[in-house]
Amino acid sequence: MALEKYKAKRNFKESPEPAGDTKLAAERAKKAKGATPRFFCVQKHLASHLHYDFRLEHNGVLLSWAVPKGPSLDPATKRLAMMVEDHPIEYGTFEGVIPSGYGAGIVMLWDRGTWTPDVDDVEAALKKGDLKFTLDGFKLKGSWVLVRTKGKWSGGGDRSWLLIKHRDDWAGDVDIAEFAPLSVKSKGDFADILAEGNPDIWISHRPASGGEAGAMFEKIITRALGMRGATGAKGATGAKGASEGAKSAKSAKRAVNAKRAVKRPATKRKSSSPARARAAKGAR
Ligand code: MN
Repeated sequence: MALEKYKAKRNFKESPEPAGDTKLAAERAKKAKGATPRFFCVQKHLASHLHYDFRLEHNGVLLSWAVPKGPSLDPATKRLAMMVEDHPIEYGTFEGVIPSGYGAGIVMLWDRGTWTPDVDDVEAALKKGDLKFTLDGFKLKGSWVLVRTKGKWSGGGDRSWLLIKHRDDWAGDVDIAEFAPLSVKSKGDFADILAEGNPDIWISHRPASGGEAGAMFEKIITRALGMRGATGAKGATGAKGASEGAKSAKSAKRAVNAKRAVKRPATKRKSSSPARARAAKGAR
């Protein structure tokens, strides 16, 4: 279990992230052997930059890759995936606010389910830099591959991989990150997750102030503060709180709709192009 790097980067007195239970890791390592289904998740992480953390359970930990643009359902679109430190199994259900330090920002559980390696020997596939597998999540399904690029991408070294969708019924040209942006855990967006916690923490020192991430934080913090104001102090917050409260209800409705849209294809696996069917339904 290689969680030394994970632990060294974090202060668990400051961060709500799980520290990692070695007993649980050992139990999980025993169960998930060979080409059997294991846990996988994708966490959408708004930190200094927005990215998607792709995690596959193996040997008692979550192998992890940071995918800046997120997974693509289009087999022609290869997405850069930077291998990062192994994460504890418990991280797979984590969603919340990292107030400061490493990874400071908001973590959303964007997808989860099981992954099944195509081969028995996952270690050998990793070593070779060619890991083929099948995903069964809410948003990501079907056949995929992670291929190491051997430093072909700038500054990558051997941490640089590509995440690629194979051509099958679950491939398509729908932009899944845009089409299904919300949490599979809370059904909320980043502002909902922040409002659940403590939106005040970043009034002066937010995790990113410039660029695209900074602009996103700006909006999300304002909306989270408004939501909290609307629910926390009835009448006392005045017009601003009330209007932000209305927005929060709208976002909840959005979440429900997205959840329905995402769950629907799971019962219609025989459909010839589920991705396109999803897109069509979403457009209505
Ligand atoms: Mn991350």
